[in-house]
Amino acid sequence: MNINVISIFPEILEASFKGLTGKAIEKNIAKLKLIDLKEFSNNDYGSIDDAPYGGGEGMVIGVEPLEKSLKNIKKPGHVICLTPQGKVFNQSKAVDLSKFKDITFVCGRYEGIDQRFIDNYVDEEISIGDYVLSGGEIAASVVIDAILRNLEDVIGNQDSVNKDSHSEGKLKGHVYTRPSDYKGKKVPEILLSGDHKKVNEWKLANSLWVTREKRPDLFEQLQLSEKEMILLRHYGDYLTKKHE
Ligand code: SAM
Repeated sequence: MNINVISIFPEILEASFKGLTGKAIEKNIAKLKLIDLKEFSNNDYGSIDDAPYGGGEGMVIGVEPLEKSLKNIKKPGHVICLTPQGKVFNQSKAVDLSKFKDITFVCGRYEGIDQRFIDNYVDEEISIGDYVLSGGEIAASVVIDAILRNLEDVIGNQDSVNKDSHSEGKLKGHVYTRPSDYKGKKVPEILLSGDHKKVNEWKLANSLWVTREKRPDLFEQLQLSEKEMILLRHYGDYLTKKHE
């Protein structure tokens, strides 16, 4: 996958591509190209922004530098603009975007970017949530990280990605590690039993229970099978008592 990011502050992105995303890049599963928008100014002052028409606060990033920077990319592919006015990002969008071979992110700053660039070149506008950040770089990092997790061989165990929260519309649920007894708080016995069938049933019931407790909006959307309803009833009381 080839990922391009156009930004006034590409160094912000550099810092975030360590760890898992860094590994994807090292392994050549993804290639990341950071494009410094400041190099595409179309005036003698080297600026890429200007005051908004009609007045108002802040500056607007101009259409010409953005166009120049985009045209400088060999294969921009699917062009995404990060903006609080976009459709809110989620796991299923991350999976969809992971299928593109070439993808370009455009990060805004200040008051945003000239609408004519969006109209002419942007395929989709994405927001990472209903709040306003100072720039699109952190939003692009979030989206790219979530995309890369879905590429083959980025995470050692692909099965774990498929079982993550939101991959099947529910939350993953509780996880535990040693010690099995922490100041009297014990790990659920079934997890220590070695009975894989029971362990998997408990994990499924726990995932459904946690989804119902924390995200009733997601739980409402689930179409539970008869087996899932029985498991939730069976373990539900136990889980509720543990948390009272
Ligand atoms: N004045 C704009 C508005 O009210 O819609 C907000 C501009 S914001 C200060 C500057 C830039 O940060 C935006 O152009 C966008 O690239 C990025 N940004 C801010 N919030 C974001 C969000 N929730 N999701 C994605 N990008 C965001």
